[in-house]
Amino acid sequence: MNNTREVEVVVIGAGQAGLAAAYHLRRTGFEPERDFVVLDHSPGPGGAWQFRWPSLTYGKVHGMHALPGMELTGADPARPSAEVVSGYFADYERTFDLRVLRPVDVRAVREGTGGRLLVETSAGSWSTRALINATGTWDRPFWPRYPGQQTFRGRQLHTAQYAGPEEFAGRRVIVVGGGASGTQHLLEIGPYAAATTWVTRRPPVFREGPFDEDAGRAAVALVEERVRQGLPPKSVVSVTGLPLNDAVRAGLESGVLDRQPMFDRITPEGVEWNGGRRVAADVILWATGFRAAVDHLRPLRLREQGGGIRVEGTRAVADPRIHLVGYGPSASTIGANRAGRAAVRDIRRLLAEGDPVAA
Ligand SMILES: Cc1cc2nc3c(=O)[nH]c(=O)nc-3n(C[C@H](O)[C@H](O)[C@H](O)COP(=O)(O)OP(=O)(O)OC[C@H]3O[C@@H](n4cnc5c(N)ncnc54)[C@H](O)[C@@H]3O)c2cc1C
Repeated sequence: MNNTREVEVVVIGAGQAGLAAAYHLRRTGFEPERDFVVLDHSPGPGGAWQFRWPSLTYGKVHGMHALPGMELTGADPARPSAEVVSGYFADYERTFDLRVLRPVDVRAVREGTGGRLLVETSAGSWSTRALINATGTWDRPFWPRYPGQQTFRGRQLHTAQYAGPEEFAGRRVIVVGGGASGTQHLLEIGPYAAATTWVTRRPPVFREGPFDEDAGRAAVALVEERVRQGLPPKSVVSVTGLPLNDAVRAGLESGVLDRQPMFDRITPEGVEWNGGRRVAADVILWATGFRAAVDHLRPLRLREQGGGIRVEGTRAVADPRIHLVGYGPSASTIGANRAGRAAVRDIRRLLAEGDPVAA
C-alpha cells in the first residue's frame, strides 16, 4: 500500500493502558511519530472515561490510580469523572508530548512483510515490528439474548448508553446484572422510577470491610489464570464482589437492591419467570458488562478454542510481537499502569534481539 508508514511500535488505544505504555516508550527513548504512534478512535482524550454518565462523579469511582509520572490532585469529587479524567488525560498527553492521533479507527491488524505487522486504519496503514493493544472493553457492550427480547414494547438500553437517572422518572425499570454498574444504576434510578426490579443470574456477593491488597491480588490471580488458559477474561471487578458501603446498605434496607433470580423470557409488556410470575416494565436496562474490544485482531487468529486470547504477562502466547494491556487481569487503572510498563520492557528486549518473531 502507498500510504504505509513504518514504525517500531503501534499502540492502539489512548486510555489508561495505552497512555501508560506510551509514557514508558517515551521514557526509554522512543520518539513519537518516528518510532511509535498512538492511535485512538474516540473524539477526545479520556479513553472510555469520556463516555461515562454524568452522575458517575469523581467521588463515586473507587480506587482510580493516576497515570505514571503525574499525579491527579485536587479534583472536585462532585464533578463528573468523565470531565475530571478527560482533562487529566489531555494534560498528560501534552506534558509528555505523546501526540495521540485521533480520531483514527483501527480496522484490522494482519501479517505484513518482513516479519512486520500491518495495521490498517481509517487514516492509512502503519507497518510495525510490535503492537501494544490497549483497546479496553467500552466499545463492546455485552447484551445477553433472552427469548422474546425483540417483542418487548418498551425501551432496552445498555450501561454504555446510560446517561443518568432523570429519564426514568415515573417508569417501571428492570435492571439486569449483578456488577457495580447494576447496583449503581438502581441506587440512582430508585428515587425517580415508579418501580424497579433487580435481576441477576447468580446471587450477588457483597464484600464486607476494606478491600485489602491480599484480596486484590487473589482476584487478579483468578483472572490471570483464565487468560493463561485462553479463556475469555472476566473483569477484575466482577471477581472482587460488591463493596458493602453506606449507599448499598441503604439500598438493601429500602428494598431497591432486593435481588430476584433471572427471568426466563421477555414479553411485550415486561418479563416472565417459569411458573407464571410476571413483572410489567417500561424499560429494561442491561448492566451486563463488556467484552474485550479485539475484533480488529481477528486476521491474526489469536483466539483459542475457549474464546479468549492466551496471554502470558502481557504478551500473546501465539505471537510475541503482540501485547495486550488493560486486558483481563490488567483491566483496572492500576493493572493498566503495570501492564503498560511490562509490555514496553518486553518489547524493548524483543526489538533489541532483532527479530521479534524469532525471539
Ligand atoms: C463504569 C466503570 C467504572 C470503572 N471504575 C473503575 C474504578 O473506579 N477504578 C479502576 O481501577 N477501574 C475502574 N474501571 C475499569 C477501568 O476504567 C479500566 O480498566 C481502565 O481505565 C483501563 O482502561 P483501558 O485503557 O484499558 O481502556 P479504555 O479506557 O476503554 O481505553 C481504550 C481506548 O481504545 C480506543 N479504541 C478501542 N478500539 C479501538 C480501535 N479499533 N481503534 C482505535 N481506537 C480504539 C477507545 O477509543 C479508547 O479510548 C471502571 C470501568 C467501568 C466500565
